[in-house]
Parts: sequence; structure tokens; C-alpha cells
Amino acid sequence: MTDRRYTAPMPDELRHRLRTGQHPARAVPCPHCKARAHSPCRLRKSGRLMPQPHPQRVAAWSQLIACCPECQVTPTVPCRTPEGWPLPDHAVHARRTTEAEETSP
Ligand SMILES: [Zn+2]
Ligand SMILES: [Zn+2]
Repeated sequence: MTDRRYTAPMPDELRHRLRTGQHPARAVPCPHCKARAHSPCRLRKSGRLMPQPHPQRVAAWSQLIACCPECQVTPTVPCRTPEGWPLPDHAVHARRTTEAEETSP
């Protein structure tokens, strides 16, 4: 029996990173405007770049990296209703997005 104790300090300062400009959801492609990973979203009508990603992209990103505190699914699993149906439009629960934003590296 080995008794290994790892006392690595957990960095507690991951939070300010959301202010640095780019939304971490840019790491995934946008299912709405088809922007590629690391590219900004565009308005489909005018082609103008958007400062923030589409909500659908944030949802896709949240689904990829975070568990959902609301419906208790693991990362990559779509959110579902209490009856077990997927949410419409590939949406995720708001709490999952919050979770993703807080845990994003
Ligand atoms: Zn988009
Ligand atoms: Zn959920």
C-alpha cells in the first residue's frame, strides 16, 4: 500500500479571464452561422462580425465542456427535460452555460 498525498494548490484565479475579450466559446465552431473554431461569429444578413458568439454557439460549447447542474448530464451529452427529451434547438440549461463560463480554463 502506498500512501501518496498530493497537495497541489488549485489555482483560484481562473475567473477574470472572461473579461479578456474573446469569449471562450469561440473554441468551437458555431452551429448557427457556421463560423469556424476560433473565428468570430457573423451576422448572416450583413456579414458583419459579432463581438459576442451566437447563443447557439455558447450552448454547443457549454455542452462540450461542462456538466449540467440542472439535468445532471455529463459533458458532450445534450441537456434534457425532466421527462427525458432533448431541449429544443439544441439548447442547454442556463445553469450549464454559467458552469462552463466559470470552469473554462
Ligand atoms: Zn455564430
Ligand atoms: Zn441541462
